[in-house]
Amino acid sequence: MKPRDSLGLREGYHSPQLDVEVRLNTNESPFPPPREFTSAFESYLRKLTLNRYPDRSYKEVRAAIAEAYDTEPERVFCGNGSNEVLLNIALAYGGPNRRAVVFEPTYSLHSHIASTVGTEVVTLGRDSSFQINDALVQQAEDISPEMVYLCSPNNPTGALEDADIVKKIFALSSDPLVMLDEAYADFLGQKTNLGSEPETLIRLRTFSKWFDLAGLRFGFCIASKEVVSVLDQVVLPYHLDQIKQVAVLAALRTRQHFEDKANAICKLRDDLYDSLVSLGVRAHPSNANFILVEFPEKDPKMIWRQLVERSILVRDTTSWPMLPPSLRITVGTALENERLLVALQEILR
Ligand code: PMP
Repeated sequence: MKPRDSLGLREGYHSPQLDVEVRLNTNESPFPPPREFTSAFESYLRKLTLNRYPDRSYKEVRAAIAEAYDTEPERVFCGNGSNEVLLNIALAYGGPNRRAVVFEPTYSLHSHIASTVGTEVVTLGRDSSFQINDALVQQAEDISPEMVYLCSPNNPTGALEDADIVKKIFALSSDPLVMLDEAYADFLGQKTNLGSEPETLIRLRTFSKWFDLAGLRFGFCIASKEVVSVLDQVVLPYHLDQIKQVAVLAALRTRQHFEDKANAICKLRDDLYDSLVSLGVRAHPSNANFILVEFPEKDPKMIWRQLVERSILVRDTTSWPMLPPSLRITVGTALENERLLVALQEILR
């Protein structure tokens, strides 16, 4: 049996998981979660009743997220990573006879997930500084999409979406649902300020980046109550297991201990950026925990291979659509960044 013709299977979003000493390829935190989290988590674990299904509507988690992110519990929907939240949104609002717009380069799972459920994905570009401009907004208007994907800070560029442009997307006459993927926005300590929050806005967040918890697989969105109630109907029952639910509660209770490390990552990023610039490569300023780098007159694929030979893995973004040949480097610990810089210096010599 072959898969559905319309599946549009593409290569997907597969970052090779090579066995290397320095992993700077998937935008995880280089630090383990704080001790305070681990002990809070352990005391929750002792109280679990694993013979029972978890609370299907995960009320405590919703309340804790709502409090931490200044919203109401009825506006919160959670999943096993923000990718799963994106999938449930696509199941509910995408599919055949629905059109979604993406502005490349951006996070490739947006178009991958949308097309997997049969949504027609229309790809628009960005300008030379990776921004969406008025001409592109007009092109989106002409497409009359039901869904638009935005990403701020954008992966892989690290740039923020312009708030005025985002507002113009909300004003498109097809009144699309707008997924504003803010996986890295916690590093900024603020959200994209749109004045009032449109009913068609879905903000997506994750615990995989700012929180040092990529292994936990937890993400959520904040949306209108109507959208959240639709997602609640689409999602599989009991999808958030008991262990995950208490881990989220423990993380939110010990949030300030994550904050110190996130601030340290921002400082490490700024130092890494300065060092990369002084190596003569073209590093793009970033608001997230990674930096996109172009190498004038050098083949990034060759650099990627030579880094792997030195047991350093970065993300090869040379085949990403509408992106100049480049590599995306996740910010590591001070030692890891130093090792990367020494290696690059040797390779670029
Ligand atoms: N959105 C963006 C922009 C990302 O870069 C990523 C992870 N690479 C995700 C979502 C997925 O995050 P999660 O681990 O929560 O599924």
